[in-house]
Parts: sequence; C-alpha cells; structure tokens
Amino acid sequence: SVITRFAPSPTGYLHVGGARTALYSWLYAKSKGGKFVLRIEDTDIERSTQAAIDAILEGMEWLGLEHDEGPYYQTKRFDRYKELIEQLLDQGKAYKCFMTSAELDEIREKQMEAGEKPRYPGTWRDRTDHPEGQPFAVRFKNPSEGKVVINDHIRGKIEIANAELDDLVIQRSDGTPTYNFCVVVDDWDMNISHVIRGEDHINNTPRQINILEALGASIPEYAHVSMILGDDGKKLSKRHGAVGVMQYRDDGFLPQALLNYLVRLGWSHGDQEIFSLEEMIELFELDAIGQSASAFNTDKLIWLNQHYIKSLPSSEVAKHALWHFENQNIDINNGPKIEAVIEAQADRVKTLVELAQISRYFYEDYEEFDAGAAKKHLRPVAKEALLLVKEKLSTIQNWTPEAIQDAINDTAQQLDIGMGKVGMPLRVAVTGAGNSPSLDVTLNLLNPEQVAQRIDKALI
Ligand code: GLU
Repeated sequence: SVITRFAPSPTGYLHVGGARTALYSWLYAKSKGGKFVLRIEDTDIERSTQAAIDAILEGMEWLGLEHDEGPYYQTKRFDRYKELIEQLLDQGKAYKCFMTSAELDEIREKQMEAGEKPRYPGTWRDRTDHPEGQPFAVRFKNPSEGKVVINDHIRGKIEIANAELDDLVIQRSDGTPTYNFCVVVDDWDMNISHVIRGEDHINNTPRQINILEALGASIPEYAHVSMILGDDGKKLSKRHGAVGVMQYRDDGFLPQALLNYLVRLGWSHGDQEIFSLEEMIELFELDAIGQSASAFNTDKLIWLNQHYIKSLPSSEVAKHALWHFENQNIDINNGPKIEAVIEAQADRVKTLVELAQISRYFYEDYEEFDAGAAKKHLRPVAKEALLLVKEKLSTIQNWTPEAIQDAINDTAQQLDIGMGKVGMPLRVAVTGAGNSPSLDVTLNLLNPEQVAQRIDKALI
C-alpha cells in the first residue's frame, strides 16, 4: 500500500517549496487510498525550534493537508537509531572511526590540492587496533563495488557508482545519529513506499539506499521534485516577497487558491488550470510532474485567488474571511451575515484583505466620505434627490432589494433625472465611497434606520 511522508526540518516556517512537496506527497497518498505521514526531522538540535515546529503544523493545518500518522519526532527516536547502529556494528556493516577532525581536514586539504573530490579514504574500515577510551564516530561501510540505480519518478533512471561514495558517518563522536541515518530508519520503520522530496536531496538517495539494503529494509520509490524559482529565475527566497505559507494567509489568499497554484507549479494535466481538491486527488500522477524548475508567478496566484473567492460557496470563503475581518477590527456581529456580504462583494476583490477593507461600512459608520466621490456626487443639486429617495425608502414595508430598487426608480422618474443622479449620491451617502455592489443589494444588507441616518449625515 502507498504510504508517503512529509519530513520537514523545523528550522523555519513552512515555505512554498515545502508546501508543494507536502501537497504532492499528500495527493499521491490520497489518490492511491494510502496514508500520509508527518515527520518532524528535529535532530539538528541547534537549528530546530519549537516556534518552527508550531509554524509548520499551523501551515499544514491551514492548507488542510491532514496527516494520517504522526507527527513523529526524530528526537524521540534516538534509542531506535542507536539500536540499529549497534546492530550494523555487530554485523560488520559499520565500523568505528577514530580519525580526529584535524586528521580528516588534513586529508581533505591534500585531496583538494590534488584536484580530487574530498572523501574519507576508508582509513579505519578494516582496522582492529582500536585505541582505548578515544572518541570515535561510526561510519557505514558503503559497498566499494557495483552501482546504485534509482528509477526516479520525475528524473528517470539515475546510476551512481559505489566507488564514488565514501563511508558516511552515521553516528557522530558525541553519540548522536546523523541526518541521513535517521531518515533511512524512519522511512523503513514507517513503511514509507514513496519518498517525494526536493531535488536538493538527490545526492543523499544512493547513500540512503545502501544503508536501507544493509538493514535488510525494502527500498521505497523516489520522486525528486525540482526547485521553485522566483520570477527572475533565481532560487525563490525572501527577496521575492512572501515565501512562508502563513504570509499568504495574512495577505488574503485562500488555501484553495494556494493549493491549486502549487499543484500546477510543476505538475500538469493537459492544459487544465483549475482543480478542485477532489479533482487533484483523482488526476494526480507522480510521473506527470515536470523535471524543470518552475518560476513562481504571483499574478497567476492572484488570478486563482479571485477565482476561488468568486466560485467557492460563501460559507467556505467565510471560514477564511473571518480572520481578516477580525484582524482589521471589524465586528461582524454588528451587521449583516458575512456570507451575504461575501456574495455581494466576491467579484470585486482579489484578496480577502481587500474584501474586509471594502466591507467595513456594512458593520460600522464610515468615518468620512471618500473625497473624490463626495466632491463629484454630493453636490447641492443632489440634495433634492437624496431627500426624496429617503422619504420613499422610509415608507417601505418589506425591506427587499426589489422595494429598494423601486424607490430609487420612482425618485428618478418623479424628478425627471437619470438613475445615476439618484444612485450615485445615495451610494456615497450610504457607503461613504463611490464603489459598492448594486444599490438594491447594498442597502438591503443594511437596515432601514442605518440607511436613513447615513443619508442625513450626507445632507448636512
Ligand atoms: N528534512 C529534510 C528537509 O527538510 C527532508 C528530508 C526528506 O524528505 O528526506 O529538507
């Protein structure tokens, strides 16, 4: 059965590259009816922080990438790593290396001077004259012959001669296991069938396969995903703006939009651009992920965000919009249902930040008129129209968009002026601004008393 994992090192927030890898792993598991495991690779104690763990969990939750197992923490599994290191030592598949770092540096330097790739020369591989009481590292006895073949789902067949791989340290002289060893043990213990990760790990893969083989573990399948670049072709970084997933939340993006954006960043299904989560799960294929690096395109993400704000059910958009109303100190208990506001405003905004910004007047009186709109539409000639429309609105028995529209129409007719000459002053009076959804809808979202009060305010 398919079991995938996302295995972030908690040294920073969940960035879009990690989120995409997580999404691919999650999708692949879902598409095969398998399981998705979350594993926190926190063995680098100096660089790992609780804040980063929290940020990763928060990002995964916001994206809706729920794990079926975990989160596992590598720091809680040290006994297990130790046990297997002992086993490899007993079996002669690993050995103690007493070389000091000064000696190692010296060797490296000579190799570099000679134009060779620095590598451990296997000094202690077969030695039995172990010094008493000296610190040692444990090295894995990498096969010296043959080759490792990886049939990568994205990069195709990759072959590495064992002669190119030196004997990897699996336990440091302070007794802690190293990163590559922990990954291998975990992938095995957690029955990972497919390792989907960034291509920056591709050099680790042959070493990891050799260790898996030495342990008698089965070898998972691999898919190494290309990098994400900024729009300038350079590796995506903070310079390019937001790279942390939660920053996208703060900037008003829906997780649905970011997920759709990320799935298409490297994966394709014909030329389809819009994928619901269900469709992604149904159509996702590892082999359809492209090999080349993809450039992050914020305009496309915005376009998708706009699409989802417009087309998702307002109740779904509301779940995410609430945060922004709160963040902008708009008390949504003080006015219409947020779903109704979303329905009225959805095709007017690109982000949820904008949505909250342009919806404030539904929940509180505006502080002042938009200067341009007031200058243009609240001129003295508008007074007559505002007075009459106010009177007509005040007689409405049943406060519906139709009745409101009739009051506006009647006013224009009675004064023999264009509809805009009634509508625009009314809009500025009620919303403070020159832009809003259609007036019948806008006024209907407010109550008659509020509307009357605001017209009065404009008449002063
Ligand atoms: N912990 C690694 C990272 O955050 C990922 C390791 C893996 O996926 O094998 O880059």
